[in-house]
Formats: sequence, structure tokens, C-alpha cells
Amino acid sequence: MKLFTIFGNPVSHSKSPLMHNLAFKGLNYKGCYTRYRLEDGSKLRDTFIKLGLKGANITVPHKEEAFKACDEIDEFAQKVGAVNTIVHRDGKLHGYNTDAPGFLKAISTFKNIKTVLFLGAGGTAQSTSIILRDAGYDVSILNRSLGRLERFQKEGFDTYTFDTFSYKHRYDLVVNMTSAGLEDDNLPSPIEILEQLVPNCKACVDVIYGKETPFLKLSKRYNKPTKDGSDMLLYQGIIAFEKFTEDRFSFEEIKDHMQKAFTL
Ligand code: NDP
Repeated sequence: MKLFTIFGNPVSHSKSPLMHNLAFKGLNYKGCYTRYRLEDGSKLRDTFIKLGLKGANITVPHKEEAFKACDEIDEFAQKVGAVNTIVHRDGKLHGYNTDAPGFLKAISTFKNIKTVLFLGAGGTAQSTSIILRDAGYDVSILNRSLGRLERFQKEGFDTYTFDTFSYKHRYDLVVNMTSAGLEDDNLPSPIEILEQLVPNCKACVDVIYGKETPFLKLSKRYNKPTKDGSDMLLYQGIIAFEKFTEDRFSFEEIKDHMQKAFTL
């Protein structure tokens, strides 16, 4: 029996144990996935080894500590500086980032998207902006404050704060990458900005899952195709599962079982 966990703080809300355990059971893989509330991120490596884990996912706020905990980091995770999946293989901890490819796959159902505006500049925006740009999308970032934008400026993205933003050209896809709406009823930017962006875009995505955020409600009022963060969560989980099980199962096989977590 191989043991897996998700490290985070808080972690009790996580759907990952259910998703992975459904897939283990459905695919007859001898695995068990639990959750671990880790207060001190610097203890991640020791805890991983002490528990005898085969693999782990890492959620807020430990994705940067997880990066430091690994012996080998895959090329993309290296580029973005954040690890959300660790696999113990050949005596070493191997780190990956599956959030970004999960997001890329989730938005691929929207057609004719070229320009993308991210509302928010946190860790999730960081990794997803890079994968989208590598895939040929033109990504701009709008954040309420300047601090987190500096990293994006250095990477060559067009960046704006609420004060410097003026609506000049349309964005095909507008994405809420903030935590506004997660535990409150806030919009991710002033309504005046959204009322310029949303009517003129082709689709809206929120990375928050499991609830209709004020941003998604507004998008629906303008009859826009929308998506919450469930597909991103599912796809990052499937890609992590592929790594955990060393590509023994296909994406579709894993999906068949893992997606049941969203209907239970
Ligand atoms: P971070 O803490 O790294 O960044 C948060 C970002 O949100 C910052 O840009 C911050 O702005 C902005 N923000 C927070 N509150 C507000 C507000 N009230 N109004 C405007 N902007 C605000 O978070 P993450 O990048 O780790 O996570 C972002 C979101 O992505 C979360 O909601 C998380 O749940 C979701 N997520 C979803 C996943 C999925 O699989 N669906 C996977 C990972 C994350 P500032 O810089 O000014 O502080």
C-alpha cells in the first residue's frame, strides 16, 4: 500500500483525498491518500520522509517551501518557482507543478481565445501566466496593488494596477485569479473596470471552485460562457496522479474515476 497526502494550512476543506482515493479504488491501485495540516513549511521534507510517503500534493501556503524540499525539480516547476506535487522515486524527492497545465487544459474548451487578462498576481497567476504565454496566449495582469506585479514586469508581461488601468483593447478571456469571492462577497476589481471588461470579452473563468462567486454572477448577467475552478482542480489532480503512479494509467481512465468527487 503506497501512502500519499496533501500538505497545507488549512487543509480540511481539500477535495484532493476524495479525488485520489476514488481513482485508486476505481483503478485497483494499492494507494491511500490522506491530508496533513502542516504549520511550518520548513518541516515539509522531514515530515514527508518520516511518514514514508510515495507522493504528496502541496497547497497554500507551502508551494514555495515545497520547491526547496525537493532534490530534483522538473523544468517547468523550475521556471515558475512553485511545486504542488512531489513524488518519491529512486531515493529522491522529485517536484512538479501541475496547477498550470491543469489550468491550461481547463481553458482549452473556449475557442478563439488569444488575449487574456488575469485579475490577480499571486502564486497561481505566476505559474499559469507563464504556461499560457508558452502556449501562445497574450497575457496581461491587473492587480489591486503594485508589489506582486514586479515579478510579472520583469518577465515582460503588461501589468496594471486599478489606478493605472485604462480600457484600450478587448480581452477575449477574463480570469479571476484572486481570492476575492472565496470567503467573502467581494469582486476582484472595482465594478467600473469589470463593466468595461466583461461585456466585451468572449468568456470568463474563476479559479475559485464550488461556489458561484460575485465575479461569475456578474459574468452570467452578461450572458458570457463561464467556468469555475473545478476543471482546473480536476485536471491538476489527474496530472499529479499520472506522476504518482508513473504513467500506468491514461488521462481519460483517471478522469472517469476522479471526476466522481465532484458529484458526491
Ligand atoms: P495568493 O495569496 O498568492 O494571491 C492572492 C491574489 O489575490 C493577490 O494578487 C491579491 O492581491 C489578490 N486579492 C486578494 N484579495 C483580493 C480582493 N479582495 N480584491 C482584489 N484582489 C485581491 O493566492 P493564490 O494565487 O495561491 O490563489 C489565488 C486563488 O486561486 C485562490 O482563490 C485559490 O483558492 C485559487 N486556486 C484554485 C486552484 C484550483 O485548482 N481551482 C488551485 C490553486 C489556487 P494583492 O497582491 O494586492 O494582495
